[in-house]
Amino acid sequence: MSRVYNFSAGPAVLPEEVLKEAADEMLDYRGSGMSVMEMSHRSKVYDNIIKEAEQDLRDLMNIPDNYKVLFLQGGASQQFAMIPMNLMKNRKAGYIVTGQWAKKAYQEAQIYGEAVKLASSEDKTFSYIPDCSDLDIPEDLDYVYICENNTIYGTKYKKLPNTKGHTLVADVSSCFLSEPVDVTKYGVIYGGVQKNVGPAGVVIVIIREDLITEDTLPGTPTMLKYKTHADADSLYNTPPCYGIYICGKVFKWLKKMGGLSVMKERNEEKAKILYDFLDQSKLFHGTVVPEDRSLMNVPFVTGNEELDAKFVKEATAAGFVNLKGHRTVGGMRASIYNAMPKEGVEKLVAFMKKFEEENAN
Ligand code: PLP
Repeated sequence: MSRVYNFSAGPAVLPEEVLKEAADEMLDYRGSGMSVMEMSHRSKVYDNIIKEAEQDLRDLMNIPDNYKVLFLQGGASQQFAMIPMNLMKNRKAGYIVTGQWAKKAYQEAQIYGEAVKLASSEDKTFSYIPDCSDLDIPEDLDYVYICENNTIYGTKYKKLPNTKGHTLVADVSSCFLSEPVDVTKYGVIYGGVQKNVGPAGVVIVIIREDLITEDTLPGTPTMLKYKTHADADSLYNTPPCYGIYICGKVFKWLKKMGGLSVMKERNEEKAKILYDFLDQSKLFHGTVVPEDRSLMNVPFVTGNEELDAKFVKEATAAGFVNLKGHRTVGGMRASIYNAMPKEGVEKLVAFMKKFEEENAN
């Protein structure tokens, strides 16, 4: 067996321990005589799996009782529509546009009502987070929407926006469980799990109960109502059973590692290794303003497209894979989620140093 260092932005590296345990349980899950893949979602065995996963997530994030945890499908992108369909009672919401994903959500919301762009960092290729301490926020907004960690551009809110009393909705797909969060500051926190939490196919929505109502926009399909899934404890229809099972294992792994405070320390330590190198390198440089840098996604460039391509090619051959930047920005991006070991980042930096020596003039 030969595992590479996988710097993919998602689907992404998962803890080896989790994968091995799942492999051991593949044919016979704990004496059930079948794989979790083959199991009825209505069975007692599966009920334990999903309930335990939810409880472990609640423990990790300290989720208050007045929030529901929903395991849904459709990816994070489906939430771009589900959020306005369920929450846009006044048909007006505010969006802070800090990257492609926030922009897509903003554009989707325009189908359902008025989406007000409260701030944007598009003027500088989304390389910073706008000052959100005193935004001009219309009174009648239903919610304020952010993408908390911008996967493509490598920025992260270090402080949540001042929503002036409006419900905060956050896409945390690429920073999910990377550090502690105060759930009470949000109305909705959601994320596709395929970056930090599990395999693609599951999106987790953590939503305050008072936001779950029958009063959705006319024409909202049953499957796109939060109430449908909340009332059925995420078992209204067949859920992404296997994906939820793996998420559950990742939650247990996170608990064993010491929880989200420990993950934050580890993630800060790993990111520092890479950012410190970039800050003194004569060849590579980061593309984001230092104060808004993400701990999860680290974009960098040499300033020369040919050299970028050469780096990606040589890095791949050396076992450092998926370092090519997003197709819309070019350059490189190292995604260093929870499951990326520190050793992987250290080795990448050593490789970058060597490349610099060989290629700087
Ligand atoms: N939001 C963020 C922050 C993302 O990084 C992504 C995907 O990379 C998405 C949304 C879209 O996720 P999905 O492919 O699950 O729809």
